[in-house]
Amino acid sequence: MRVRCAECCNETEFSLDLWRCTCGGAWEPASLSPFDPDKIRMQDYSIWRYGDLLDVDIHTEEIQMGVGWTPLVRIAINDRIVHLKLEYLSPSGSFKDRGVNVMVNQLVNMGVRMVIEDSSGNAGASLAAHAARFGIEAEIYVPAYASLAKQHQIKVYGADVIPIPGQRKAAEEAAQRAVGPGKAYASHAYNPAYLVGQMTAAYEIWEQLGRKAPNWLIFPVAQGGLFLGCWFGFRQLYEKGLILEMPHLVAVQAVQIAPIYHAWVKELTNIPAVEADGPTLAEGVAISKPVRAKRLLQAIKETDGRVAAISEDEIRQAQIALAHLGYYVEPTSALVYAGYQKIKSEIDENDTVVLTLTGNGLKGSPQSV
Ligand SMILES: [Zn+2]
Repeated sequence: MRVRCAECCNETEFSLDLWRCTCGGAWEPASLSPFDPDKIRMQDYSIWRYGDLLDVDIHTEEIQMGVGWTPLVRIAINDRIVHLKLEYLSPSGSFKDRGVNVMVNQLVNMGVRMVIEDSSGNAGASLAAHAARFGIEAEIYVPAYASLAKQHQIKVYGADVIPIPGQRKAAEEAAQRAVGPGKAYASHAYNPAYLVGQMTAAYEIWEQLGRKAPNWLIFPVAQGGLFLGCWFGFRQLYEKGLILEMPHLVAVQAVQIAPIYHAWVKELTNIPAVEADGPTLAEGVAISKPVRAKRLLQAIKETDGRVAAISEDEIRQAQIALAHLGYYVEPTSALVYAGYQKIKSEIDENDTVVLTLTGNGLKGSPQSV
């Protein structure tokens, strides 16, 4: 797989030794083949529906997990119609499966038998599920504060869970130190095939809306894999003239730790690391600085997107509001509901809006209601 660094434009062939660019940047695909609707596998209702459109090196029949083709539900929130993309209905209970499924297929094709990842929980659970299905080993470094439900889920799949005290960054550093011969870093933050897997969400939404783009697409954002995957995916559709306009991409973070929000408000072109003001219920977005920082800001700017920061009280209320509509998602996922409320006044009432519900509520720590 030919890859490129968005930070320094270095280009090379992806290899296990060089899991990131020498400048520290993350790899992304060096180029993407033009989107061709005739290549959609119409009988396949999983991410592999788009298997002939993904620029990854998988030379055997893909091992399927039943990932993808999640429901897109039309629903009224207060007085407006929106669409909910139920990404939490994936085998491991989160949107991470899209990227992880493509990444693990590629890594196994490269001969990998053991994978390492750091995760606040969902990416680790997804990787552990795939390791079980593919018959390989997994070692997952989690921040010690990660919900016990997620840590338990990872263990049940048979992976090793290593809790690391301190901030999220400490788990990342521990995982990276453990990478070595025979142990591949299967990182949702750095791996380019993971990013390609997340592009399938854009193609699905486009098909599910009758081959149209939404006007607004709202995500919780930490590293931004799904956010950037959708940006790349919709750009592919736009470049082929299959959509007339790009959707506005909206990133939602927690007030307690909101690096993208602060950089966006100050109109910066890079994202300085921030310290957490305190713990957040939205543990999935508690990172001090995303790896693909410049790309995230570029995607927001080029799509005339928005960034919202949500308080702990608003997160609690949003989780309950979604539950009262019948959707039990974890607090991180509930960010999108609160984010939608914050920017609703800027949205035309005829616009199509998609909220991505990324993680199952059963994974979070129980809150009192
Ligand atoms: Zn670089």
